This record gives sequence, C-alpha cells and structure tokens, in this order.
Amino acid sequence: MDKISQDLERAAAAAVPGRAGFDYLIVGAGFAGSVLAERLANVLGKRVLIVDKRPHIGGNAYDRYDDAGVLVHPYGPHIFHTNSEDIFDYLSQFTQWRQYQHRVLASVDGQLVPMPINLDTINKLYGLNLTSFEVEKFFESVAEKKEEIKTSEDVVVSKVGRELYNKFFRGYTRKQWGLDPSELDASVTARVPTRTNRDDRYFADKFQAMPLQGYTRMFERMLAHPNIKVLLNCDYRDIVDVVPWKHMVYSGPVDAFFDYKYGKLPYRSLRFEHVNVPKEQFQQVGTVNYPNDYGYTRISEFKHITGQEHPTTSVVYEYPCAEGDPYYPVPRPENAELYRRYEAEADATPNVTFVGRLATYRYYNMDQVVGQALAAFKRLQAAHAAAERT
Ligand code: FAD
Ligand code: UDP
Repeated sequence: MDKISQDLERAAAAAVPGRAGFDYLIVGAGFAGSVLAERLANVLGKRVLIVDKRPHIGGNAYDRYDDAGVLVHPYGPHIFHTNSEDIFDYLSQFTQWRQYQHRVLASVDGQLVPMPINLDTINKLYGLNLTSFEVEKFFESVAEKKEEIKTSEDVVVSKVGRELYNKFFRGYTRKQWGLDPSELDASVTARVPTRTNRDDRYFADKFQAMPLQGYTRMFERMLAHPNIKVLLNCDYRDIVDVVPWKHMVYSGPVDAFFDYKYGKLPYRSLRFEHVNVPKEQFQQVGTVNYPNDYGYTRISEFKHITGQEHPTTSVVYEYPCAEGDPYYPVPRPENAELYRRYEAEADATPNVTFVGRLATYRYYNMDQVVGQALAAFKRLQAAHAAAERT
C-alpha cells in the first residue's frame, strides 16, 4: 500500500465512529481552506478532510526555519495587514502578534529611496528640500491629465508624471508581470500609494503585525480539532472518488478544476532564490525593490520582518517567470472575461464552494482571503441551518 493510501485509510478510520466519510473535503490548506476547515469543525461540528498537494499546511503563507535556523517564508515575504478588526480578532484566536510595520526602499539612480514615493523620496532623488505643500505642487505640475483611469500606467502618470513612472513603476511592472503597465488593470499599481508627507510605511492599514511564532504555528492551531484530518502530499484528484464526502471547498486554480475547458487562465509565477548570509544584517529594511536592474524585482530580509535575532541572516530574491506554481492572477480585461466563464461553471457546480486567490482569480491579500472565507462560511452555515429545518 502506498503512503497516500495508508494516510487515507488512517484518515477514514479516524472519521467520527459509526459514520463513514466526511462532511467536507477541503482542497488546499492555505488561508482559504484552513479558515473554512476551522469554522466548519469548531462552529458546526462538521467532519473535515483537508488535503494539500504540498508537504505542508499554510499554502503560500507557510514559514519554516532554514538550515541556518532563521525563520523564512519559502514562498516570499508575507506581511499581515488589515483594516478589518473582525478579521484581526478572528486570527487572534490562533496567534499572538508582534507589531511590525514594513518598510521598503527602492534602488533608483544609484540611491536607495523610500517606496511608496513620499516627500523624502523626491527630496533625496532630486537633491531638494521641498515641503509637503511644495511636493504636492510638484506632483501637480508633472502629472498627466487623464480622462479615465483604466490601466496601471494611467494610475501612476496621472499622479506623479512620466519621469517618476519610468523610474519606479515601468521597469518593475514589466519584470513582475511580463506586461507593460498599460496592459494591466489600474488596480495593480493602485496598490501602491503616493504620499506628500514623510510616512515611509509600505502599508497604511490599522492592523499591521506578524504572528508571534510564525504563520505555520498559527495554521497548526487553526487545524488542531479532532474533527479535522489533514492529508498532505496529496492531489485531491487522487482521492476525490475514493473518500466519501458531501460538500467540497476548493481553493486551487479554478481553470484546473474544470480541466482547462475554456483554456488556461494566466497566473504569474516566481522563482525564489533563498540565501543565508554569514553576517547579522544584509540590508537596512525588510525589502529593497530593484525596478530597473537585475532579473529579480526585490530582495527581502526575513529578520526585519519576524524580529528574530540570529548571528546570520536569510534573504530571498524574487525572479518573476511565466512557468511554475501559480502565484498571481493577472488582472487585465481579457483574463477577467475568461475567468467569468469559469465562474459561471463554478456557480453551476452543486456541492462545491470555490474560495481563495486561485479559485476566484482575485489578486487578494491574506486578510481579504480570510474575509472571503468567513463570508463563504456564513453562507454554508445558513444553508446548513435551512437543511436542519426541513
Ligand atoms: P494558497 O495559499 O495558494 O493555498 C492554496 C493551496 O491549494 C496551496 O497550498 C496548493 O498547494 C493547494 N492546491 C492547489 N491545487 C491542489 C490540488 N489539486 N490538490 C491539493 N491541493 C491543491 N498577502 C498579504 O496579505 N501580505 C503579503 O505580504 C503578501 N505577500 C505575498 C508575496 C508573494 C510572493 C505572494 C505570491 C503572495 C503574497 N500575498 C501576501 C498573498 C497571499 O499569499 C495570499 O493572499 C494567500 O496566501 C492566499 O491564500 P489561499 O488559501 O487563497 O491560496
Ligand atoms: N510596483 C512597481 N514598483 C514598485 C512596487 C510595486 O511598479 O517598486 C507595482 C508592480 O506592478 C507591482 C504592483 O505595483 O506588481 C503591486 O505592488 P505590491 O508591492 O503590492 O506587490 P506584491 O507584494 O503583491 O507582489
């Protein structure tokens, strides 16, 4: 008997005695799948099998200690931030937090300057000493008037003009997405604000914090319920017809679920190069962006982000690429149109709930996925209550 069959047999045997199978099969143990597993088991007492084809829980937010003993994020730096008190409170059941405000510098014209662009960025870049009021006037003088803001190029040139757009956004975006900003929805570069003050935090959210003992520990606590069985190294397709279940929650890529029947949805991938460096600090801040040079977009140093103290340090370089694990849905009109065809299929598929960044083809942050999963749970709960009444 192979490893998966053994695990499965154990999982099936461990399902609630006297009742065969599971109420829910959850595909993917990232935020989407884990939040639903936790809610369904804890609130509704459902029996849940959660499977992931990777050898670990946590999805892209998974963290682990590398060979040098430094806590790293294998799938790139993950910084938690949200404006939602409900989402923060929900996750706080499973972790304590370390307050952390992420700071990013961009390497431009041989200098390291704050990103998002702020007052200090402009003063340092141009050797000026402008006030907030003057920098606002400066942006107004260089901004290109646009009738309509449609693309990621429009967003930036309409705020800070073409020169700053070229220095900070054009090259980075072309590297990151393999597309020109004019080919991407406005929402992509609109993630990064422009400031006229000296605020140099990357995010402005009300809650900005890292799980004190890491994401993986937080996920372990979410999934630590006797009704939840976790099966790793397992593609759900290998067990979907073997294990009895009543409802599926699917958080993998939506096009894969439907065997790419309408064609492949583009997802952008990354190659991560992790390096341990034998010195205490590698760079001044958590992340340095390289919009115009090198094949990578950014270097992140984990100790800034996690607060860990260690005599060595670990960094990750992100090299964007077309092939590989799907990390980013690509927001542009033709992809949205293709996604709508899959979405219609998804809506017409009874007994399957699609949730998460890949299954709903949305460029969501972690908190948005948690919010989406909690909303999906409420719908399932309402359906459950209605079924109980009949
Ligand atoms: P995922 O975490 O992708 O989980 C889906 C899971 O499904 C995966 O583990 C996958 O293995 C599994 N799966 C897929 N197909 C199958 C199958 N056939 N069978 C079994 N299992 C399957 N967000 C932030 O808020 N802050 C950040 O700083 C941040 N940084 C990021 C940096 C990078 C480089 C990336 C790529 C993303 C970042 N994000 C960040 C976004 C964050 O990763 C996502 O919002 C979140 O992890 C999505 O959770 P999910 O559960 O939807 O998907
Ligand atoms: N971006 C850019 N230059 C930067 C930072 C971001 O052009 O220095 C653009 C780029 O298109 C990127 C998008 O803004 O994909 C969103 O940036 P963010 O840092 O939010 O990306 P993520 O962390 O999700 O990869």
